[in-house]
Amino acid sequence: MTEKKTPLLDELEKGKWPSFVTEIKRAAVRSASAAELLPLLERSYRERIGHWKHGGIVGVRGYGGGVIGRYVDVPEDYPNLAEFHTVRLLQPSGWFYNTKTLRTVCDIWEKHGSGLTNMHGSTGDIILLGCKTNEIQPIFDEFSEAGFDLGGSGSCLRTTNCCVGPGRCEHACYDTLDACYNITNEFMDELHRPMWPYKSKIKFSGCANDCTSSIARSDCSVIGTWRDTLIIDPVAVKEYAANGYPIKSQVCDKCPTSCLTYNKETQELTIVGEECSRCMHCINMMPKAIHPGKEKGATILIGGKSTIVQSAFMSWVVVPFMKLESEDDYEPFKELMRGIWEWWDENGKTRERIGETIYRLGMGKFLRETGIPPVPQMVFRPRANPYVFWNQDELDKSGTMLDGSAL
Ligand code: SF4
Repeated sequence: MTEKKTPLLDELEKGKWPSFVTEIKRAAVRSASAAELLPLLERSYRERIGHWKHGGIVGVRGYGGGVIGRYVDVPEDYPNLAEFHTVRLLQPSGWFYNTKTLRTVCDIWEKHGSGLTNMHGSTGDIILLGCKTNEIQPIFDEFSEAGFDLGGSGSCLRTTNCCVGPGRCEHACYDTLDACYNITNEFMDELHRPMWPYKSKIKFSGCANDCTSSIARSDCSVIGTWRDTLIIDPVAVKEYAANGYPIKSQVCDKCPTSCLTYNKETQELTIVGEECSRCMHCINMMPKAIHPGKEKGATILIGGKSTIVQSAFMSWVVVPFMKLESEDDYEPFKELMRGIWEWWDENGKTRERIGETIYRLGMGKFLRETGIPPVPQMVFRPRANPYVFWNQDELDKSGTMLDGSAL
């Protein structure tokens, strides 16, 4: 039943982008399981049926999560894929590696597994695809020797993730790398031992550009912001003007709260600070002239998730501003998370994410029982489905491009 030719997969090697099919073919030279993966995938594409059985209890001693059981449902046809488990490794903050470390990861994985990796998808983890049950403990032992730990899987704290932050980005309003590292170490028990109704995720973004998509993809989003007014450099504004940059149309007219005004005569840009929603648009458009304010920290939001029990949610603000400058500042955040998880553990149904429990029982009950003070920033809307896609028809009808310019 296994097929030698893979015409459907071969289509995916055409075009200018890197192809996962090419990579599997390269791995197939050295790995029997990678070689069987090609005909299995071809068969799935042809039959339009997935042949993986999800789940199953596999793991290492002392851990509940980190390894995800994968079995093919036709093992008689694909004996090398009968067990093809996924191993998640806890990645370093900001995904910084040297080549020696990457070679170590690949060497261990080629020795014990398929050699196929999946680096930093939406989970953030280093994902290693395909090993047999009896290889899991040796894999874990060798990765531990090399300084790696397992990531999260199952009903636990999933591997925390952060944007590159101050490592490479001028917009970062707090040290996302340090916060993520410190807070991950604090919650190792929660990460390794599934104990809750379902999974829980924390993602750290240094500013409202939210490069980790935390607002849609994590139960707790920690998004950098500032409390005072953004800083405008008048000399740099004049340079933008001298270079012909359309400040009014590209910056002021697109400010969601219309808090910026540009005077073309004097080439001055002014702001009504109280009106600013700190959306980052003006800073993105004029990064040399507009900067976050001086009093920096983060907004904490709760309840983001994709669809399972309810539809997809974007997270709610629970703390509009929290300082995150030092280890001491991390303590209130840790306390907040412990309280929220405890409430959810008491009240959540199986496979219900924090946001769904809040949605079912009400924000009032959640706030009263966790002791979080209500604030005006806790708006109920907008928080609808974050997966919004525009198609060409809609754009044609509106007569504008996505950036607002005329078609
Ligand atoms: Fe930079 Fe903000 Fe993106 Fe982080 S979220 S990388 S701080 S733009």
